[in-house]
Amino acid sequence: MIIGIDLGGMSAKAACLRDGTLTKRVCVETSGSDTAEETAKTLASLARRAAEAAGIPYGEVEAIGIGSPGVIDSASGSVVLWSNYGWRNVPLAELVAKYAEKPVFVTNDANAAALGEAKFGAGMKYEDSILVTLGTGVGGGIIMGGKLFEGYRSAGAEIGHMVIRQNGELCTCGRRGCFERYASATGLIHMTETAMTGHPESALKDHLKPTGEVSGKTAFRAAREGDPIAQGVVDDYIAALGEGIANLVNILRPQAVILGGGISAEGEHLLKPLREVVLPNLYVSDEYAPFEIVCATLGNDAGLYGAAEYAKSKI
Ligand SMILES: [Zn+2]
Repeated sequence: MIIGIDLGGMSAKAACLRDGTLTKRVCVETSGSDTAEETAKTLASLARRAAEAAGIPYGEVEAIGIGSPGVIDSASGSVVLWSNYGWRNVPLAELVAKYAEKPVFVTNDANAAALGEAKFGAGMKYEDSILVTLGTGVGGGIIMGGKLFEGYRSAGAEIGHMVIRQNGELCTCGRRGCFERYASATGLIHMTETAMTGHPESALKDHLKPTGEVSGKTAFRAAREGDPIAQGVVDDYIAALGEGIANLVNILRPQAVILGGGISAEGEHLLKPLREVVLPNLYVSDEYAPFEIVCATLGNDAGLYGAAEYAKSKI
């Protein structure tokens, strides 16, 4: 019996992984104003609550896996850097293990989600898959031969910071033209806003959030109504997303790329044109090495599944 914990900036969730499914999820608020020691204590008691909620004696829990934001040294289970919480070199696995009295393993939250989708979600059919999460940034993880690929000192697989446009837009990481500047929900919103300013007559203005703001859905919805400006935004967005995906696929050649995050809810409206961009740009044809683009299926549970699976792979 393994417990997975998904640690976020505002809260942490936990559940047991039993026979390939998660038991009842339990949740707790977390805060960056707590010390790392206090957060570890909170997570340890959350793990006990998860076992209790599942009706599992805590003694049967073999290990705890945590998916954490930030740069993680997964070999030691330390959070090397998590700027939101101001954490530097926090020995998270060690601290949680002290209070939980179980072995604890930590990986990056994006890697955990990739592992979760690969083993329990959209990637179950594949040995090799890449999760690309389209959210505030572009996160993701790489699964090769059924195993998580983290790079040296788990510092790799930062797919959002692959440059797709040299001297392009400035990224939060300091480089210019990163994949996530164009392919994230933030990137799409930015492109939509620019198009709206240039073409106030377009139907984009009819698909705003109730607050009057542009969302990641605005351009897709207006495009479906036949608005040419919106269609242009969607085409540009998909071209950028496809550029990055084709790069990843040409280097790593997974059997599938799994799209997660809010924009993946567009389903075939996104997937169909995306395949038309990616497939002709593959160096080795998909007739020889079949390749698919699919949507994630686990939603917010991917990280919990993956955190538990990560611990399971380590014990
Ligand atoms: Zn970057």
